[in-house]
Amino acid sequence: MFKKILIANRGEIALRVIRAAREMGIGSVAVHSTADADAMHVRMADEAICIGPPPGTQSYLSVAAIISAAEITGAEAIHPGYGFLSENANFVQALQDHGITFIGPTAEHIRVMGDKITAKDTMKKLGVPCVPGSDGGVPDLETALQVGKEIGYPVIIKATAGGGGKGMKLANSESEMENAFRTARSEGKSNFGNDEVYIEKYLGRPRHIEIQVFGDGKGKAVHLGERDCSLQRRHQKVFEEAPGPAIDEATRAKIGKVCADAVASIDYAGAGTVEFLYEDGEFYFIEMNTRLQVEHPVTEAIFGVDLVREQINVAAGLPMSITQDDLKINGHAIEVRINAEKVPQFTPCPGKITQYHAPGGLGVRMDSALYDGYSIPPYYDSLIAKLIVHGPDRPAALARLKRALGELIVDGIDTTTPLFHALLEEDAVLTGDYNIHWLEKWLEANT
Ligand code: ADP
Repeated sequence: MFKKILIANRGEIALRVIRAAREMGIGSVAVHSTADADAMHVRMADEAICIGPPPGTQSYLSVAAIISAAEITGAEAIHPGYGFLSENANFVQALQDHGITFIGPTAEHIRVMGDKITAKDTMKKLGVPCVPGSDGGVPDLETALQVGKEIGYPVIIKATAGGGGKGMKLANSESEMENAFRTARSEGKSNFGNDEVYIEKYLGRPRHIEIQVFGDGKGKAVHLGERDCSLQRRHQKVFEEAPGPAIDEATRAKIGKVCADAVASIDYAGAGTVEFLYEDGEFYFIEMNTRLQVEHPVTEAIFGVDLVREQINVAAGLPMSITQDDLKINGHAIEVRINAEKVPQFTPCPGKITQYHAPGGLGVRMDSALYDGYSIPPYYDSLIAKLIVHGPDRPAALARLKRALGELIVDGIDTTTPLFHALLEEDAVLTGDYNIHWLEKWLEANT
């Protein structure tokens, strides 16, 4: 086992990894920008090292700075968290060249899944059902119009390198195609340096259902059921739950096996998420994330599994401690993402926390790097806390969420907490009868 690992991230996810490392008796190294000198992950790790100025490109995204930090501190492995370098195949390759272990899949698997066209093609060949659409990339407007005619409007044009909801454009009819096609291309180019796009049928009322998979890198893999992440704003998840209210045991077992078999057959190593849209009983693959997800704690809650510990074990060459037969669902879990944003406009709201009190009690987990007096810097993602609740069933989890939200105090800045108080009054949320478009429509009607 490793003696020391470096965490190439910040915020709550850095704490999450440090906690797992500490329980395993592994030393931890935090890296930070000058803006994060007082951050909680710096205080909590065994060692900390400054890697550059505030902009991500000069610190948390700097491969050279992070490798130097690992070499200086003698860290044998790096956990990337999510975001930043977590899905950067060149980073993984560079670590390999320097004899540092990446806690995650191989550079090759990241590369294949990071390009959405190749990912879709690969998954299709492995027997995973996909959204109908163009056969690979769409080079020009003429072809795009042809595809639109064949699959029927509305369609969605997606940048193959896209992510985080960027590089996706809807075309409701032929007349909207030109604009949508050009915008998706230019967003792909400006955000991800790649203007290749493809086209998919736009589904009108699907749920976002994702399957958590885990592979040992040697041909064995398991699935840990699904998460329903349909409550989204601008294609970004805000509320996630497991198990999915619309998925029964037989459906879970079937799609779970398809995903586990697919990743097993490519010798996938570590945690991964296979994302689907789910409509009228059919699954349609949209993408695979080759990393730990923000919403992984809901899966941990219902299965009683520490996914980060498993990741570290597999990266160290040890076998997985979980087998498919052992994995049984216990109760229901919900996560809400609390952002430093002012609702209803969702404008970022960094600043100084004058008072902080985290909720607690039975079945409550608060993953956050906040503390009294902390100043949230303006340079990074606005996610400041994940509140995860676990209960014997969905109604119990909802009641616990309401209770826990009532205990939370974050003074000095605005947060998205009022959104969740309001959502917990809505029938659609209480009954679980929502789809990926529900929240946008609700926000339009209620703001
Ligand atoms: P990203 O990589 O940016 O997260 P995804 O391909 O995972 O992009 O899609 C993100 C979200 O966009 C989905 O959860 C869904 O809400 C919406 N979306 C993606 N593809 C489609 C589609 N074919 N029809 C309708 N909505 C879609």
